[in-house]
Amino acid sequence: MSFESLGLKAELLSAVQAQGYTCPTPVQAKTIPVILEGRDVLAGAQTGTGKTAAFTLPMLHLLSNTQQGTPKGRAPRALVLTPTRELAAQVAESVKTYGTNLRLYSTVVYGGVNINPQIDQLRRGVDILVATPGRLLDHAGQRTVNLSKIEILVLDEADRMLDMGFIHDIKRIMKLLPPKRLNLLFSATYNDDIKRLADGILRNPELIEVARRNTAAETVSQVVHPVGQTRKRELLVHLINEGNWQQALVFTRTKHGANRLATQLLKDGINSTAIHGNKSQAARTKALADFKSGSVRILVATDIAARGLDIDSLPHVVNFDLPNVPEDYVHRIGRTGRAGATGIALSLVSAEERDLLKNIQRLLGRNIQVQEITGFKHEASAESSAPAPAPRQPARKPHERTKKAAGFGCPSRRR
Ligand code: AMP
Repeated sequence: MSFESLGLKAELLSAVQAQGYTCPTPVQAKTIPVILEGRDVLAGAQTGTGKTAAFTLPMLHLLSNTQQGTPKGRAPRALVLTPTRELAAQVAESVKTYGTNLRLYSTVVYGGVNINPQIDQLRRGVDILVATPGRLLDHAGQRTVNLSKIEILVLDEADRMLDMGFIHDIKRIMKLLPPKRLNLLFSATYNDDIKRLADGILRNPELIEVARRNTAAETVSQVVHPVGQTRKRELLVHLINEGNWQQALVFTRTKHGANRLATQLLKDGINSTAIHGNKSQAARTKALADFKSGSVRILVATDIAARGLDIDSLPHVVNFDLPNVPEDYVHRIGRTGRAGATGIALSLVSAEERDLLKNIQRLLGRNIQVQEITGFKHEASAESSAPAPAPRQPARKPHERTKKAAGFGCPSRRR
């Protein structure tokens, strides 16, 4: 399967080529032709599977088919809703990257920053608007955006939008859109809430599923280091120094914990910064930029802040605390081993976190390898540090039908 065979126009193919992509990922191969046909899509795909290009490329293709002259005062024709500011910024960046050879205009609006430059951008006219729900409704309320010309709607990471309580905002936004439009809904998980949302928005959608990262992330090696809660930081510093890590993303359960750890690491001489929901948008953007540029070595993050962060080829992800929700573990380790690169996901697990580990292993359908680091074994007996055996029949979720790897390599040709 090649990008050329998907039906995308030359301007998009050359943009894809410029990114160095040789062949479409599974979600791209399945989704792009369906969207080009003008059909609604309900896609189960996580961050890291190439889902952004899966909706952005055909969206740009369709919009450029009905391209209009200058953008002056033009109301947006495509709307992409995302749960977080970071994801909105990243999607907007992808729209610009893939649309570089087309004369389409885009902008992004999200909260936490001055609204006036956004109003100016919207007034100048755009084809594609990427937005978080709250700020979009602010614009709608002030009549600084006109949503009556939307032809394509994308709900990106719809499950996370519901988790974050955006359902009422989404419903309000839907009322502002024209009834006839193309609808694309992307969600990492599929449950009754997503089904209800999809039923209310999509018309006869094509259902597309690709392997979840947990079954797919074969390039990510996972390991558990048992350690006492109070010695976790010491162990982390030991691992960073011994392994001479260049960079790592470290997850904590709380915002306070993220701040505390980043500060402690700084005291240990390791350049670190924290990213979480209590930080201003400017501080979050700066933390991410510093990390991406390599000037910050360790980024300490909470789950929500890290959601959707596109950080290329991150070699290490550390679970300083295990997440309460097992699915978050899968999201977290999806930050490494992306796009076929190898990665290591380490979990520092205290005796108190045994049950959390058990639940994660049940979701994965297997045990994670345990490796004790000399001098750091936690206070409890070695036996109690051993992970509970995974069930023989791993619990399957409806969206886990495909067990194939969501690798990014081109599938080998049949002989
Ligand atoms: P996403 O799931 O959209 O967050 O994409 C994950 C990462 O995969 C991003 O860094 C993309 O640039 C990259 N990517 C997307 N499509 C491809 C492709 N066909 N080949 C290689 N990398 C890709």
